[in-house]
Amino acid sequence: MAVIINGKEISAKVRLEIKEKTQKFIDEKGYAPGLAVIIVGEDPASKVYVNNKHKACLEVGFLSEVYRLPAETTMDELLSLVDKLNNDDKIHGILCQLPLPKHLDEEQVILRINPDKDVDAFHPINTGKIMIGNNSFVPCTPAGVMKLIESTGTDICGKECVVVGRSNIVGKPQAMLLLQKNGTVTICHSKTKDLKEVTKRADILVVAVGIPNFITGDMIKEGAIVMDVGINRTSDGKLTGDVDFASAEKVASYITPVPGGVGPMTITMLLENTLTAAKIQSK
Ligand code: NAD
Repeated sequence: MAVIINGKEISAKVRLEIKEKTQKFIDEKGYAPGLAVIIVGEDPASKVYVNNKHKACLEVGFLSEVYRLPAETTMDELLSLVDKLNNDDKIHGILCQLPLPKHLDEEQVILRINPDKDVDAFHPINTGKIMIGNNSFVPCTPAGVMKLIESTGTDICGKECVVVGRSNIVGKPQAMLLLQKNGTVTICHSKTKDLKEVTKRADILVVAVGIPNFITGDMIKEGAIVMDVGINRTSDGKLTGDVDFASAEKVASYITPVPGGVGPMTITMLLENTLTAAKIQSK
């Protein structure tokens, strides 16, 4: 039976370290790292995420500003807020909660954020830096997955790593991070032929697809480390991952549960990126 990786516990430990580093930063510089989060509209899930980010910032001693804009906000209004925050010395990280209402262009907003303040690491400058292995920030979810893999004490070097999903926010950066650690990386996606044949090879399997219980135990190599990024809501309102936990835990050596695995790490890595941003901008 696999060891279940406790993302909540690891996340709490990392947040404590961030809190200590933040205090040291404040003692040295005389001000706190500042994060501004913009939310447009009333998407209920986004509201929960933004509130959680705000709380997490306050807990580690950051300055946290939340800008709640109405759904009918125009592109000009949104971009001028981004400009204002780009020029605000108290703010070191800017995050625009996605998805935005349909009439707003997410790409334009991402492009407008100063790359040094882009703590989500979605700006092409930052995604490009990940590609060449010279990154300051890493998108929060893949960064969290790396911390969880690290927690198992496994050396990624030379391991067969398979990432299922090629999104810009999870799959692609995840693959780059595993490559940076010298993993032999394969990316699978909706057009992959014989997925099972590929996933079965993985010593480290990261799944970010968005389909409940998509990866079953028979698709997993004996002793693999399985990271389930998926967050899916079932018809009875429960959260479930992309991996069929019951069959997978019989085969894997380590596995993340949903909820309580990768999820809690995402905001933690946002805090880490914000502290990094504040340090970079203080130089
Ligand atoms: P996405 O929809 O942008 O991408 C899904 C990917 O899955 C695509 O690249 C697609 O090619 C691949 N895919 C779809 N069907 C497939 C199939 N049959 N076989 C192989 N690959 C297939 O999703 P995303 O934004 O990367 O998110 C994926 C999941 O992770 C979702 O459940 C999302 O809620 C969750 N997520 C969790 C966190 C977190 O904090 N834990 C953060 C981001 C996303």
